[in-house]
Formats: sequence, C-alpha cells, structure tokens
Amino acid sequence: MPEKVVIIGSGPAGWTAAIYAARAALQPLVFEGAITEENRLRGTLPLGQLALTTEVENYPGFPAGNLEAYLDDSLEKDRRQLMAPHLKEGVSGPELMELMRQQAVNFGTRIVTDDIVEVDFDTRPLRLTASSGEVTETHTAIIATGASANYLGIPSEEKFKNRGVSACAVCDGALPRFRNHPTIVVGGGDSAVEEADYLSKFASVVYLVHRRDQLRASKIMAQRAIDNPKIDIVWNHVVDEVLGDEQQGVTGARLKSTVDESTKELAATGFFLAIGHTPNTQFLQGQLEMNDKGYLKWTKPQRTYTSMEGVFAAGDVADDYYRQAVTAAGTGCMAALDAERFLAAEGL
Ligand code: NAP
Repeated sequence: MPEKVVIIGSGPAGWTAAIYAARAALQPLVFEGAITEENRLRGTLPLGQLALTTEVENYPGFPAGNLEAYLDDSLEKDRRQLMAPHLKEGVSGPELMELMRQQAVNFGTRIVTDDIVEVDFDTRPLRLTASSGEVTETHTAIIATGASANYLGIPSEEKFKNRGVSACAVCDGALPRFRNHPTIVVGGGDSAVEEADYLSKFASVVYLVHRRDQLRASKIMAQRAIDNPKIDIVWNHVVDEVLGDEQQGVTGARLKSTVDESTKELAATGFFLAIGHTPNTQFLQGQLEMNDKGYLKWTKPQRTYTSMEGVFAAGDVADDYYRQAVTAAGTGCMAALDAERFLAAEGL
C-alpha cells in the first residue's frame, strides 16, 4: 500500500508538517536524513540548521527561563542523555528540534533515519528512493529539506576543510585548535554575527571579515557584534586565500580590500564561513520547478503547491526571503493541510 504522506526533511517545517498530518490520521512517514560524515560536512544532518545553532530567542512560546525539567520530562531518555546541557535560558536550537520531533512521534509519526536520493514524480503513486536503495511509494510528498551553508569555493578553503575551515561554529568552535587563538568569520549577516559571538567565548579574538562597510545583520545582532570587545570587524575586505600548511592546517587568511588594491594577512587557527545558504534540492533536479538559485517554486499564491500535483514544499527549501524557524513551521503546517485536502479531493 502506498503511504498517504511522506515528509522529506527534519527541521521545523518537516516536524510541523508531521504533527499536523499525524493528527489528521494520515500516518506520516518522515525521512529525517542519514547520519553520515558527508551530511555532517554539508550541514545536512537530521534536525536541520537549528541543530547547528545555540539559543533561539525569536521562536514564540519560549521566554527566558529554565526549561530543564520540561526537557527531562518530555523527551525519550535515550535521546535526552545525548543532548548538550541546557543553558538555563529559553530554548536552544537542538532542544527545540528534539521537542518538535518528540511531539510528532507522540501522534504516531514514523521516522526513517535516511536520505531520499532520487524521486520519480511522473508516476502515480509517487516513488522515492532512499540511499539504502529502498523505494517508498506515496500519494503525496512534502519536501522540507531546507538549505545548507555556502562556502567561498576557493581551492585553499577546500584543502583545509575539517582542519580549521568550517561553516558551523556551534559544531566545531569548542575544539582545542580554536581555543585562545585568533579566528576568522566571513560574512555580515545574522549568521556571521551569531557565529562570531559564539566563537568569542573560545577564541582570543574573532575577526569578522565583511565585504562592505555595513552589516546586513538585524540591528540588535549587529549591535551585539559591535559591543563585543573580542570581535574585531574587518570592513571592506574579501578573502583572497586561506593560508595554512599540511602540519598545522589553517594558519590565517590573505584578504583583499574592496575599496583599493591593498591586501593584508591575518593570523588565525580557524576560518568560519557564514555567507548564506543553498537549498537542498539537488535530488529534485528535473522533477520540480525551481528559481534561478535552486529554491523550489510555490506555484499557487498562499499555497504550498509545487509544479507537480501531490507534491508540496515547506520551509527554507522554498523560501529564500524569510528563512525563519517560525515561518518554516508555518509553511510546514500549510503543506500538511494542503496534502490532507488534496488526498480528500482525490478520494485517496
Ligand atoms: P544572509 O543574511 O544572506 O547574509 C549573508 C552574508 O554573507 C551577507 O552579509 C553577504 O554580504 C555575505 N556574503 C555572501 N556571499 C559572500 C561572498 N562570496 N563573499 C563574502 N561575503 C559574502 O545569510 P545569513 O546570515 O545566513 O542569514 C539568513 C537568514 O537567517 C536571515 O533571514 C537571517 O535573519 C536569519 N538568521 C537569523 C538569526 C537570528 O535571528 N538569531 C540567526 C541566523 C540567521 P552582503 O551583505 O554584502 O550581501
């Protein structure tokens, strides 16, 4: 028997879709992603981008306060004991994701810890192939695979990946190689400020390298960077090359000015990227309409329909504008309702 609803992805969009679909008795099946080294490097492990952040201050319903007892009480013990200690302030990204996952499980969501690597949306039912080779047939699919961090794409950066180059401060920032040494963060958005702020707990100084003379980050975040004495903002510079050697990995970076011909070198043991994201839609090439940046197109106003009947999209995979946890959750809810109504209309 084909599934009624399969959800691909396990961030706020995926879990919210699962909660709604499960409560509508559609017995959703979630492919939450595989736990592999490749996914770790690409930032596509289960639980999505929020699992790579620290405090989440703008998700409604979690004012500052100690959530510890609630976490202990609501999560399965075997998953709870793997989590980092609660910060005693509001909710963290990983905590929020675990709570959403548990809520979906509580209503009967089934979960497969694997990636979908191929889809065939031209047939009915739809066919999804997992990396294990297993094929799942389903009447509807909700794509909620999110987006992952960009790299600059220069050879020296590739050479030192995992040896000082990273796109996730929260994953790697506490490693011994970054402690009490200078670190570089590239970017000027909220992510760059958040990464720089986090890294300033470990590094001797954090150079925040930005290509313009104004941060893109929201006012409150930008002020946080300016006020942090351990963050040194290097305005109007781009990276020419990541410096390093075989033995030590990253030792610094050569920067190029964006306003004159000058270059300069910074010594650092860490090189962190926070320069935006690319949607995780590679496995959907040729199957669904996308915009020029590869984000899925919503084909009906105010709906989560894609270019293929029965396939819906939710969260950052189709949203390069808002990209917030709460908007992803909102469109996850919409996708589940759209799928439910589609199934009812089709008599499935
Ligand atoms: P973003 O807002 O798109 O910022 C990307 C930054 O990287 C920009 O400053 C951009 O420079 C720079 N950049 C892009 N390509 C570059 C290149 N090749 N070389 C050098 N610099 C480059 O991305 P984001 O910071 O990841 O944020 C994404 C979304 O998530 C936003 O909506 C943000 O508000 C949200 N977010 C929120 C929080 C929070 O509220 N706590 C935390 C993280 C993210 P330009 O400015 O010159 O374009």
